[in-house]
Amino acid sequence: MSIPGYGGKIVKINLTTSSITTEDISRDLARLFVGGKGLGTYLLLENLRNWNVDPLSSDNVLVIASGPFNGTMIPLGIRATLVFKSPLTGIYGESVIGGSFGAFMKWVGVDALVITGKAEKPMYIFIDDDRIELRSAEHIWGKGIFKTEDILHEELGKNISILAIGPAGENLVRFAAVGHEYYRQAGRCGGGAVMGSKNLKAIAIKTSRREVSYHDEERVRDIVLELHKKIKENPSIQSYAARGTPGFVEKANVLGFFPTKYWSKVRFEKFKNIIWESLGKYRVGKRTCYGCPVACHQYIEINEPPYANVKVTLEYETIFALGGLCEIDDIRAIAYMNMLMDDYGIDTITGGNVLAFAIEAYQRGKLKSEKELKYNDPDSMCWLLERIVKRVDIGDLLAEGVAKAANVLGLKDIAVHVKGLEPPGYDPRTLKGMILSYAVSPRGACHLRLMGYHADLMGLGGGRFSTGKEKVEVLVDLENRGIFYDSLPVCKFGRFIFDWDVMRDLLNAVTGFNYDIEELRTIANRIRTLIRVFNVKLGIKKENDYLPRRFLKETVEYDGKMYRVTEEELNNMLNTYYELRGWNSKGIPTEDTLRKLGIDTLLRKWGIKF
Ligand code: SF4
Repeated sequence: MSIPGYGGKIVKINLTTSSITTEDISRDLARLFVGGKGLGTYLLLENLRNWNVDPLSSDNVLVIASGPFNGTMIPLGIRATLVFKSPLTGIYGESVIGGSFGAFMKWVGVDALVITGKAEKPMYIFIDDDRIELRSAEHIWGKGIFKTEDILHEELGKNISILAIGPAGENLVRFAAVGHEYYRQAGRCGGGAVMGSKNLKAIAIKTSRREVSYHDEERVRDIVLELHKKIKENPSIQSYAARGTPGFVEKANVLGFFPTKYWSKVRFEKFKNIIWESLGKYRVGKRTCYGCPVACHQYIEINEPPYANVKVTLEYETIFALGGLCEIDDIRAIAYMNMLMDDYGIDTITGGNVLAFAIEAYQRGKLKSEKELKYNDPDSMCWLLERIVKRVDIGDLLAEGVAKAANVLGLKDIAVHVKGLEPPGYDPRTLKGMILSYAVSPRGACHLRLMGYHADLMGLGGGRFSTGKEKVEVLVDLENRGIFYDSLPVCKFGRFIFDWDVMRDLLNAVTGFNYDIEELRTIANRIRTLIRVFNVKLGIKKENDYLPRRFLKETVEYDGKMYRVTEEELNNMLNTYYELRGWNSKGIPTEDTLRKLGIDTLLRKWGIKF
């Protein structure tokens, strides 16, 4: 019997054998892992025969999961979650994408795609309502993401949603992104390289269906009406609607947490050149994810020398990575580089970190380059970017990411990453919630798992400089909510209005599962702990829940005072976090925790000793 809120099918595609099989999603699986991140994590571990597999080998598994809110009337309820073993970090990899793909999956009845193997020649997956086929992608291989989308739209007609990789993914750049609707990306952790390693250029879904099933449609409608009111009244959400995330650049500089000059400062002297007042005049419209009334993406067009035909939606993280870390003070140059990266299929956060690291390495005489590499020099950065994408000369080493490049160059001491993932735009020395956020996020340095910056800026758990138990409790709760946002799904800008009560009421009205909040928290802990088990089996231990040396040894100045992270702050936060999660003092989930969460049964089923 079909489950309200679900498409109903899990589709398994083996690109080596071209086999496509479909199975029904069971009620138990839906209830225990919900969708999106939860469902994707379960399916990754269930289908990854060998957890020690090389992430770029045909044995890696790419799961793309939808969730019960996708394609419904729920505002901000739109995301698809990509789960895989990361070629950048070698551990759990995950990336979440807005746009429309999650909704299209739902409308064609697919809760998850499980993609294994490697096609002999470039292929793309085409899902046309109930028909699924593999098609040659030789005519689009080598093309940028924009052109790829253009060609597929022309070829396949209307009502299409596409995920695609660009040359970076094809060339196995370890931080290659998956692009969608030109300006959206599943950026982090190298999902684009996983697709490239499988000779999978794109996935296109075509459907004119829009029906979804609800357990109690009237109840959903009532809650949705309330949510629309809250969206209009919430100043934080309205600020995203007016200026998008670029509106945050000024605040980050004024409050002194804007990483600058490869993590050596927390304020960019020329920040006024890259704030909304400089960018806003180029806005010609807005873009939105399916059904979202916020429409936070500010669509920019620039046509003034030396830049022509620049079209992009610019985000805070890209402005930080290129403007802050590389000290580029021309917003037009940042927009241009953003467009290049979107078309190449590069994660702009890691991309900006890699470029700034290369400048530091060059200036310290450790990296030889035929072109001078320096701060605030978009020309040399564009030159280097192309070499990275093509894996030419020094670009080949830098395409491995900061951690691997730093090992080769003998620059581990200056490299900024956690577990191999380069951080986004929040310096933990002056935004202390980010200490734990970076240290324990299962995919490496990430702001969107524990959302420490949100806690800090909202004054939760004792404020931005607090590192005590009350802060850790807030962060665990935010992480649990975040796991649900990525599983239901809900865009994380919805965090201001989607509290536990709203999530429970909506989820019950959509699915009829009759959850209580305690069960939701248990599910979040199950998903979190299962990912920890996977990472521990891959060698992660307490020593890896650590921050880069520079955050602990080098100070930054803010408001006349010097700041760093102390060992005591980090250790206290870690110990409290482990305790709240039911892990031992070394960060290993205890037997009791595994049993309470039902993970011991799963591990036995999968033949995993822990
Ligand atoms: S707020 Fe922005 S990112 Fe979130 S769903 Fe709406 S348009 Fe997409």
